[in-house]
Amino acid sequence: MSPRTLPSRSSTAPSSDSDPILTPETPSPAPATSTSTPAPPSSRLPDAKPPSSPSPARRAPHPKLRLEIRDLSHQGAALFLRSVNPATILSPAVASIYRLLYSSSSSSSSSSSSSSAAVPAPPTRSVTLILRSMGGVAYTTSTDLDRDHKEIHFSLDYIANIRPRDRVAHEIEGVLTHELVHCYQYDGTRLRYNDSNDFSDQDDQGDDDDNNNSSGNPNDDARDARCPGGLIEGIADWIRLRCDLGPHWHRDEKQSARRAKSWDRGYESTAFFLDHLESRFGHGTVARINGRLRVSGYHEDRFWPALLGESIEELWEEYCCAGEPDDNNGDGCDKGKK
Ligand SMILES: [Zn+2]
Repeated sequence: MSPRTLPSRSSTAPSSDSDPILTPETPSPAPATSTSTPAPPSSRLPDAKPPSSPSPARRAPHPKLRLEIRDLSHQGAALFLRSVNPATILSPAVASIYRLLYSSSSSSSSSSSSSSAAVPAPPTRSVTLILRSMGGVAYTTSTDLDRDHKEIHFSLDYIANIRPRDRVAHEIEGVLTHELVHCYQYDGTRLRYNDSNDFSDQDDQGDDDDNNNSSGNPNDDARDARCPGGLIEGIADWIRLRCDLGPHWHRDEKQSARRAKSWDRGYESTAFFLDHLESRFGHGTVARINGRLRVSGYHEDRFWPALLGESIEELWEEYCCAGEPDDNNGDGCDKGKK
């Protein structure tokens, strides 16, 4: 598939106004189709468990979901409509994201030194899926109306070129799930930001703390503390992984293969690292990472020790050492182990 350009670790956040890719070509016209269906429980998730004590206040949100196809004659449009039913794949994806990041059972680890209660999700009120011809794969941005209204731009050209054909529905669902995570995750800052990657999976989170966190937050510098783009992308792909929508990925098993990368490389690499943390520190760890980004911002030297008791270097080293030893053994894995 199309090669992925990984986000630079902490590139500056250019103004969305100056980034032509992140600026919708035209103001959003009235959607061609509108879907808003109750979110059924997902049954595909490997660790699917109902929240232990579901609360009405913690139920998955039901944003208005819209579909806009800008070129019905495009081969990708026909393939999309033949392969998936947008009325039935978007709402379950939102429900899965909410279950993994915001349900009470996803952030209730007693080992957390951060908030143990489920954090509120960003108040995203609508998501418009726009299928259009463009380079790359997809990106998520806010609409001109306000940041609570998101747009996912998905490339018809990319869809038209998905191979093999029997993977089309799965890939579409995976990409949409990844992008929907961007509509519902925190990044440590209240400021709008854009990743200026040439890769089209770019994000304009705008995941402002909204009205819920406007008082009593001692971390006034949070707005200047956006986490690495690789963590954002890693969380999005971790959700995709947990939804069993990343079958073409492979986890690096060898210690040397893990060491050859960095923890914030992004996408599946970071997703597998996060999955390791989820296993090591318990169910809800990734939800706690996301939740802490809401309230504290990202200051790397403090963020990980406060949350997991170790520096990111120690966490990454432990992950690398948890891989299979290389043939020539060694690698000094003793030193990084706790
Ligand atoms: Zn992304």
